[in-house]
Amino acid sequence: MLSCCVLDCYVDEPACFGVPPFVSPYPRYIYGALSEAGVDEGHIHCLTIDSLRNGDYRFERSYDMVFLVGGAVVPGRYRGSRIGTAAEIRRIAERNPGQRIAIGGLISYVLPGGDNVTLVRNDIEKYARHFAGGGEEDERRTAPEIARWAVLGAGSVRAHPRFPDIICEIETSRGCPRRGHCSFCSEGLFERVEFREPEDVIAEIDALIRAGVSRFRLGRQADILQYKSDCAGFTGGFPRPVPGPIGELLSELRARKERGLISVLNIDNANPGTIAAFPDESSSILKDLAATVTPGDTMALGIESFDEEVVRRNNLKVFPREALRAIEIINGIGGARIDSIPSLLPGVNLLHGLDGETVETFEKNYRSLSEILERGLLVKRINIRQVIPFPGTPAHAKKYAPSKSVENRFTYYRDRIRSEIEHPMLVNIYPPGTILRQGQVLETQAGYSYAKQIASYSITLKIPMELPLMSFHDVVIISHRERSLMALPFPININTLPQKALELIPGIGKKGATDIILRRPFASLEQASAYLNNVSIDIKRSMIV
Ligand code: SF4
Repeated sequence: MLSCCVLDCYVDEPACFGVPPFVSPYPRYIYGALSEAGVDEGHIHCLTIDSLRNGDYRFERSYDMVFLVGGAVVPGRYRGSRIGTAAEIRRIAERNPGQRIAIGGLISYVLPGGDNVTLVRNDIEKYARHFAGGGEEDERRTAPEIARWAVLGAGSVRAHPRFPDIICEIETSRGCPRRGHCSFCSEGLFERVEFREPEDVIAEIDALIRAGVSRFRLGRQADILQYKSDCAGFTGGFPRPVPGPIGELLSELRARKERGLISVLNIDNANPGTIAAFPDESSSILKDLAATVTPGDTMALGIESFDEEVVRRNNLKVFPREALRAIEIINGIGGARIDSIPSLLPGVNLLHGLDGETVETFEKNYRSLSEILERGLLVKRINIRQVIPFPGTPAHAKKYAPSKSVENRFTYYRDRIRSEIEHPMLVNIYPPGTILRQGQVLETQAGYSYAKQIASYSITLKIPMELPLMSFHDVVIISHRERSLMALPFPININTLPQKALELIPGIGKKGATDIILRRPFASLEQASAYLNNVSIDIKRSMIV
């Protein structure tokens, strides 16, 4: 009987995220493929890079094959988690010289092979299926195959170290529906767009629900608005979106939410060019999305640059006016607050390191973002990243390297965007008194707890008391830090709140906190009112005694 290991080193790809608490589809597909091939479930071990880290990167036993997915060349920052790096994956191969390892995912393009390493350039789940049947072909999987493997592999999530506090990334399609492709992007390398059928996606989600998962994100796709588009009726290089199929999928998901089977439902990537080219169809889909997702969700838009010359040279999706129009449309539909938080807001992704950048590029980015702020529009997050051109893309062939002066300008405006745009945006999105549900404590340090919701692009909540690690708390926002929110457990009980936490409530301060502590317990809030005169009504609403 074959014995295999599925090793998840986590993924952070342009159109797929799988760093805990997110779990990407790939390890689930591999498990399902092995299972379909007849490998006994007791002989498929699911590990993560974290378990290898704890064991000096050595496997405790040998396998016929380790199927490794994920890892990042340039890791981002993730509170409470660390993605596997290329260096760590090389270490795993070196420290286990007798162990055969098949490496899949985008990382396989930047790692060297080795005696014990097979680099899988197509789909590692398909390779696993062949391997279990005695072959070693490196091929693409098909949509019907992953429909089966996704269901068969759902139970593998129970082995995840953070189970059941995870959110499963769900694939709806791969490949880019746009006619032309951006200079840097790996999605454009898929020859055609492959959509999954709504019933396949739902069958996978039902299998994951049976396995104990209740949080999902429709995140693995280039553009959620183009789900099951006919890839026809092009305007400006974008196909006409078709509201029917996504509506069908969302209505099934709403039904499961209403039955309490889904607690978090998020989406990811959408193309601002689709919204600008087809505002009517896009608005219809956006309304459906805003009515279905969990409030506080983000629609990430790969705008990449507000510099028209950079847009032209890199064949990006939208010019600045179109980007602003897309942001305005999403705000108009998703900006209404549900349970105190806007239901669906745009996120803006910007890239640095694109061909055509000059010292003026970053000022243009800054100005466009300032205009968004001044117009009272909300952007949930601004993500500025260094471009990593993927092998096979025009940007990779061109090897553009920014000059020192361009680098300096980039850093200068990135910092200004953080302090002058992101911070006020944070205040506008989460005014004092906003209630955020189910923040999970990921770290405690020097009298503070750092928590995050298990959801898409969740913001760090800094709570001025040490709470049990991994415990969940509803919180109320009391103030704003540079890139996080100061919060207190909801409701705020002023009879039991520690002194430091009381001091941090705007309008109470050090002296007020001492007075409250000397006077409490209060029998009612009215009795405490003299001490709360300067506290805003929005925070007071969350107080109890
Ligand atoms: S529009 Fe550009 S960034 Fe988006 S998936 Fe297509 S090629 Fe990639």
